[in-house]
Amino acid sequence: MFEFDEQLAELVLAYCRERLALAPVPLDLPGAKAELEDALAGLLRPGGNDPAHVLEIFAEKLAPAVLSCDSPRFLSFIPAAPTKAALLFDMVVSCSSLQGTSWLEAAGAVSAENQVLRLLADLAGLPDTAGGVFVSGGSAGNLSALVVARDLSRRRGVTVDRPKVAVSEQAHTSVAKALHVVGMDALVVPTEDRRLTAGQLRAAVAGHEHELAAVVATAGTTNAGIIDDLEGVGALARELGVWFHVDGAYGGAALFSERIRPRYAGLRHADSFVVDPHKWLFAPFDCAALLYREPRYAKAVHTQDAGYLEVLHTDAPEEWNPSDFAYHLTRRARGLPLWFSLAVHGTDAYRDAVDAALDLATAAVELIGQRPYLELLREPELSVVLFRRPGWTAGDYHTWSFRLLADQVGFVTPTVWDGETVARFCFLHPGTTPAMVAEILDTMA
Ligand SMILES: *Cc1c(COP(=O)(O)O)cnc(C)c1O
Repeated sequence: MFEFDEQLAELVLAYCRERLALAPVPLDLPGAKAELEDALAGLLRPGGNDPAHVLEIFAEKLAPAVLSCDSPRFLSFIPAAPTKAALLFDMVVSCSSLQGTSWLEAAGAVSAENQVLRLLADLAGLPDTAGGVFVSGGSAGNLSALVVARDLSRRRGVTVDRPKVAVSEQAHTSVAKALHVVGMDALVVPTEDRRLTAGQLRAAVAGHEHELAAVVATAGTTNAGIIDDLEGVGALARELGVWFHVDGAYGGAALFSERIRPRYAGLRHADSFVVDPHKWLFAPFDCAALLYREPRYAKAVHTQDAGYLEVLHTDAPEEWNPSDFAYHLTRRARGLPLWFSLAVHGTDAYRDAVDAALDLATAAVELIGQRPYLELLREPELSVVLFRRPGWTAGDYHTWSFRLLADQVGFVTPTVWDGETVARFCFLHPGTTPAMVAEILDTMA
């Protein structure tokens, strides 16, 4: 089974070719457990199976039961729109068994990943010292950064058992999970209009300074695309001498947009910053960039020591071990598909693709305004649009959403805003058109 098999290669590559060429990518449907179990029954057996048969089961039964988050009609949660170049290069990473754990083993891959991290650090206004690693997602990035914040706070004299981290109530759920894991508590800062600001942060942390380990701001909340006051919050975090983490898992990509970048100027204060290329930077799963202002703090916390790993730690100035900057050891060189696509298409293409989603959000606002049966909830700052259908109950939204998917018109799940079930679009796929949005809105009449 370790020999190159021309036929097997042809078979799988033909499938990949076909999938890559699908236009449009169908949304597909949720799977039914009994049918899936039926399709899989008996497949894992001592003698194996004809590969064509196994691939057919995948293509005919399993793949259609996976919603295509790269369909231009997938507008729920945060969609995906990986470039073909990035997807193809993901196959190169797989076929070459490229890992990116250490400089010794993978300098070529690590250099290319670092080139992308440098580009992102420059856009964020972070200093020359900045660097980091690609991790599996925003959740892994937030957790890895907050571990560093916690350990450093101890060195800065925070001695309480459970240090506090200031967050707004709109912070991503993964931040709360990370705090749970690392044994810190959220200090939830009340906000006006859901945006974390310096004034409110100052009031909320008063009296808690001795137990404060970090402040987390969000550059593009997941539910509404709200950008916290990074400048004010960042400057205050500096003044307080606490770690400033910016969660830009979704919205960090808007650094590529010249329209939005000025709003991200406060990112230059960040001690750590996360952006998910598998969201709005058109990379395949799973890919999140984690950057530190001073990576040496992260290295002091995350480096894994063992006799057999000593060889990796040489103190050579060029050495960069990605395993030192998050809680992982072995890792796939998951930044390379993004690197390849960026190198091929150029940063202008990324700017234009991000801007296209911002423009589509503006177009959607207009389309909502043209329909008297709909109401916009707030002006979008990024590419999330929240709106309501007055008169609808939560049940109505769910029935509507289910029907849209069944008809393959769109995957648009409702969200909850201020305790009310409402409709939400998240745009990022350059193939989503205003006509598709209008078609979806018309089903709400
Ligand atoms: C998506 C998201 C996360 C979590 O990222 P994963 O890649 O899903 O782990 C964290 N924060 C924000 C703001 C997000 O939008």
